[in-house]
Amino acid sequence: MEQISVISQIQARVQKARQEGKVISLVPTMGYFHEGHLSLMRYARKHSDLVLVSLFVNPTQFGPGEDFEAYPRDLERDKKLAQEQDVDILFTPGKEEMYLLNHLTYVRVDKLDKFLCGRSRPTHFQGVCTVVLKLFNICQPDFAVFGQKDWQQLIIIKKMVEDLNVGVKVVGHPIVREPDGLAMSSRNVYLSKEERKQAANIYQGLLLAKKLVEQGEVETSRIKERVQNFYQEQIPLGKLDYLEIVHPFELTSLERIEDKALMAVAMQVGKARLIDNLLLRGSLDV
Ligand code: AMP
Repeated sequence: MEQISVISQIQARVQKARQEGKVISLVPTMGYFHEGHLSLMRYARKHSDLVLVSLFVNPTQFGPGEDFEAYPRDLERDKKLAQEQDVDILFTPGKEEMYLLNHLTYVRVDKLDKFLCGRSRPTHFQGVCTVVLKLFNICQPDFAVFGQKDWQQLIIIKKMVEDLNVGVKVVGHPIVREPDGLAMSSRNVYLSKEERKQAANIYQGLLLAKKLVEQGEVETSRIKERVQNFYQEQIPLGKLDYLEIVHPFELTSLERIEDKALMAVAMQVGKARLIDNLLLRGSLDV
């Protein structure tokens, strides 16, 4: 595996691969790899000839007072893990390489960035879209793989690609969980032992909602109330940011479950802001 930190170098490698007719994939990440990241890399490896993984803790997607500085980093461990997945190139640009000192351009997907995480993180998705479009332009992949854990991010990036005629296929990959159900996240290392134990119930709450729907409940207010009560009892250390039942692609809140419905949750547990989601009805095929 090669490690490249300079944009012009990665462009040269990509150009050569293109000329050789290779299928190129990209997995954008912020590093501190876990099985969730590795599953995206394995998908990319299986479906392309040249696998690029970017590792960049993107400052523009963190708001003031968020955990940009504290975000966990371990480049040596990440290099080893990426190598084990047979990644071809780990792209590790510095902040100055990615953002000129006089950077002025930002990409924003309207409306979709107002729901769910957008309410408490108003500039987050603009930072995500800007860096992802830059990575797409630099790496020119045939496809890029994103986790369904960040469901809103996936939907927003798909919309950006559609609206701006970006020639990259965006692939969503299922959520990878710990044995007790907690969605894997680099931020899980922030959790104390007790917080970690309670955090597993975030997923249990989503499963409870799914069970209620399977039993015939269609009123989202009743489902949300049951899950909120469950969270209050089972995760006393958690502070709920939102618990919503939305249309999976439009992200608008639903009053009744008729067709497709996705439950999404964000909760602050200690220092970690944790998100998760589960399809309550329908399919996630976009
Ligand atoms: P991050 O490094 O947290 O920005 O995540 C990089 C990519 O990995 C994103 O597309 C995430 O959605 C994806 N990802 C993170 N955690 C998981 C998980 N538990 N399962 C599947 N994908 C994940």
